Amino acid sequence: MIKRKRLVKSFCDLVKIDSPSGQEDKIAEYLSEKLTQLGFEVGSDDYGNIIAKEEGNNPLMLSAHMDTVEPGRNINPKVEGDIIKSDGTTILGGDCKAGIAAILEGVESSIENNQKNRPLEIIITRDEEPGLLGAKNLDYSKINSEEAVVFDGNGPVNTITGISPTYMKFDIEITGIGAHAGVEPEKGLSAIKIATELISELPQGRLDEETTFNIGLISGGTVRNAVPVNSQISGEFRSQNTETVELLNLQLKSTISKFQERYEKCSIEYDTETMFKMYRIDEKAKIVKSVFDTLKTLGLEPDIKPSGGGTDANVMLSHGIDCIVVGMATNEMHTVDEYVVIPDLINAAKLTENLSQKND
Ligand SMILES: [Zn+2]
Repeated sequence: MIKRKRLVKSFCDLVKIDSPSGQEDKIAEYLSEKLTQLGFEVGSDDYGNIIAKEEGNNPLMLSAHMDTVEPGRNINPKVEGDIIKSDGTTILGGDCKAGIAAILEGVESSIENNQKNRPLEIIITRDEEPGLLGAKNLDYSKINSEEAVVFDGNGPVNTITGISPTYMKFDIEITGIGAHAGVEPEKGLSAIKIATELISELPQGRLDEETTFNIGLISGGTVRNAVPVNSQISGEFRSQNTETVELLNLQLKSTISKFQERYEKCSIEYDTETMFKMYRIDEKAKIVKSVFDTLKTLGLEPDIKPSGGGTDANVMLSHGIDCIVVGMATNEMHTVDEYVVIPDLINAAKLTENLSQKND
């Protein structure tokens, strides 16, 4: 049986171990020990992702990530009734430790009751938050699962990610000409001025129902009284429509070349990179049906929702693993107001327990 007290304690223990992206050694060690105690053969790949396996055919992957965003150090979880929250100075770390706690409790309960019926591969990635780096560097030759349940969604476990966008990031570096601002400004060419003009010609915010565009960082100059030589712009855009992403990419390129022509004496270098690709849930996939059926036996109706973000599933799908992303009981992720609803966390553990008991 899923034990509420044990689950809440396990979750609180996990969030008390600091694990900002890139600093996951301690949590990895802790989780490896836990999974070994549960009878898994625990290893890792060169990137430091945890790969825990059990003998047998047709394994099911359960996945979550072990890194958290900032401010995420010295987290002090507080249990108030059915809610777990932080003390208000940090995030809670429910993203994604609620997912990890649910997996551990579900497996432990299933083993206790001698009801485990399907071998599991538990993959806990690191470095997810900066751009799914763990999943991108995961050693897929060590993975046998063809299907996965990824615990990294917002809200109750029956909140299913129906669609996730393609995400493209870009960085622009403008080099102008320096000059003394008061003595001979006409000799200079301000990189900051060019940057502001360029930004004003790019789209911003929500462009349509499925598309957003954001400039998140600008920097430039060195001192108040010099015409600035350098400026940098970083941004991203995402859309559930691949064509829109391509069009925005073209628009970005043509805007930059227009400015390069307008300001011949400056140089504008830029770089774009697709961080992850969109996917739409395949309701005919076996794993999707299996999760939906299991949710129904728990009295939960699947609630399919679009997501503006990506998860490890975006990457795993491109490696041929059928994925479904479920809610992990946390809300207001990436803020100091983040909270976990304990009954939802119990349901997430029950989903794990039930999935490990059926073999279809
Ligand atoms: Zn997450």
